[in-house]
Amino acid sequence: MSTTALRPVHAASPRTPRRLPRRGRPVVVDVLAGAAGLGLGITIALGIGAQSWQSVSSPAGLLTAVGRMAGLLSGYAMIVTVALSARIGPLERAIGQDRLIRWHRRLGPWGLYLLLAHVILIVLGYAGVAQTGVLAQLWQLVLTYQGMLGAAVGTLLLLMAGISSYRRARRRMRYETWWAVHLYTYLALLLAFQHQVQNGASFAGHPLATLWWTALWVALLAAVVGWRVALPVARSLRHRIRVVEVVRESPDVVSVVLEGRRLDRLPVAGGQFFQWRFLTRGEWWQAHPFSLSHVPHEHRMRITVKDLGDSSRDLAALPAGTPVFIEGPYGRFTADAATGHRVLLVGAGVGATPLRSLLQDLDEHADVAVLLRGSDEASLVLRDEIAEEVERRGGRMWEALGARTRITISGESLRRAMPDIADRDVFVCGPDAFTATVATACRAAGVPDARIHHESFAF
Ligand SMILES: Cc1cc2nc3c(=O)[nH]c(=O)nc-3n(C[C@H](O)[C@H](O)[C@H](O)COP(=O)(O)OP(=O)(O)OC[C@H]3O[C@@H](n4cnc5c(N)ncnc54)[C@H](O)[C@@H]3O)c2cc1C
Repeated sequence: MSTTALRPVHAASPRTPRRLPRRGRPVVVDVLAGAAGLGLGITIALGIGAQSWQSVSSPAGLLTAVGRMAGLLSGYAMIVTVALSARIGPLERAIGQDRLIRWHRRLGPWGLYLLLAHVILIVLGYAGVAQTGVLAQLWQLVLTYQGMLGAAVGTLLLLMAGISSYRRARRRMRYETWWAVHLYTYLALLLAFQHQVQNGASFAGHPLATLWWTALWVALLAAVVGWRVALPVARSLRHRIRVVEVVRESPDVVSVVLEGRRLDRLPVAGGQFFQWRFLTRGEWWQAHPFSLSHVPHEHRMRITVKDLGDSSRDLAALPAGTPVFIEGPYGRFTADAATGHRVLLVGAGVGATPLRSLLQDLDEHADVAVLLRGSDEASLVLRDEIAEEVERRGGRMWEALGARTRITISGESLRRAMPDIADRDVFVCGPDAFTATVATACRAAGVPDARIHHESFAF
C-alpha cells in the first residue's frame, strides 16, 4: 500500500482550525414539516373554495371537481418531492441525503398517480358535460386551451421519469441514462406551471391564490438553483480544486489526492461526501458521490475509490492537474452526530473511507474502537493508516477476515469483544446488507437506535 505520496495530508490533526459545517438542527425538520402541512391545508382549501354545490350536483360536475382537486394535490406533491431532492443545506444536515432521497422516492409516485387521476377525471367530466367522446374531448382540451399543449408534453416527460425510476426499469438502465431522463422533470414542471395558473379553477380570477401558488414555485426554483447550481459553482470557483495525483492502494482501489485554494474554509467534516465531477473530456458530464478519506489539511484533501464501474475505474487514469467541480458537502455521518465520547467505527471494504476521515474529526479524548471487515487483509481499505491513528489515540482495533459464511457479527459477539458497547455511538459504513446486519447486532447488544449512525453507498 503506497502512502508516501500522501504525506503532506497525513498530519494527525490540522494545525489551523478548519471551518466545519453547521450542526444539523432537528428544529429545522419540525419547522419545515409544519410548513409543509400548512401548505397542504391551504392547497386543499383552495381546491374546495373553487367549487360550488351546483357544480358538483351532476356526476360530470363531480368528476371535474375531484379531477381539479387531484391536479392541485399533484402539483403540491411535486413541489414537496422536488424540495426533498433540492439539496437544501439545513435540511441535508438535519435529515441526511439518504433519508431525504428515500422520502423523495416514496412521495414521487403519488404526484404521478394524482396527475393521472387529474387527466382522466377532467377529461371524463368535460366529456360528460359536452356529451362528446372521451378522445375527442382530450384532443380538444389539448389543442384549444391555453398552456395545455405544454402541460401535455410535461405530463409525458413526468411519466417517462416515473417509469424510468420504477425499480425494475432502473436496474436495467445505466445510472447516467436514468439521471438524464430525470433531469427533464424540471422542464416538465415548468411547462405544467403555466397551465395551472391559467386554467386552474382555483387560480383564474383569484389573484391572491395565484400569487401564493406562484410564490411556492418561485421559492422552489430559487432553492434548486441556489443549492444545486449557484452554491456548487461558487464553491468550485472559490477553491479551484485540482487532482494532484492518483495513488494505487490495492488492485481495485485508488486514492485521488486533491489540491485547492483555502480548503480550510471549505465547510466539510470527516465522514461527509461530495458529488465529484472530474472535468476531463469523457467524464465532465457526470457527477459521482465519494466520501472524503482525508479531511482538508492545509491545501489538500483526498478521496479513496473502489473500481465498481466504468467511472470509478476511469479515476485511476486521471491526469494530474485535472480540474474538479464539487457539489456538497453532504451527509450526517459526522463526529458531531455522536452523543457521547465513546465510539465504535465499523467498516467493510471501501466503507472504511468515511471512517478514516471521521476518525480525524473525533475529539482527541474520544474512546475509539474500530472494527474492519473484509475477505482478507488486502481488502481492508486504508487499513495501515486507520491502525496508526487508532494506536496514536490509544484505541482498539479488530479485523474480521474471512468468507461471509465463516464470520458472524451478532449482538453476542459484539458484546463479548466490547463489554461497554451499549454505551457507545456506532458508525457503520459498508454494503447495505452488512450495515443492516451490524445495526441489528448492535440493537441486540443494547445500543439504542439513536446511537447507530450509518452511511449508505447506494441511493
Ligand atoms: C453517499 C455515498 C458515498 C460514497 N462514497 C464512496 C467512496 O468513498 N468510495 C467509493 O469507492 N465509492 C463510494 N460510493 C459509491 C460510488 O458513488 C459508486 O460506486 C460510483 O458512483 C459508481 O459509479 P460507476 O460509474 O463507476 O459505476 P456504475 O457501473 O455506473 O454503477 C455502479 C453502482 O453505483 C451506482 N451509482 C453510479 N453512479 C452513481 C451516482 N452518481 N450516485 C449514486 N450512485 C451511483 C449505480 O446505481 C450502481 O449501483 C459512495 C456512494 C454514495 C451514495
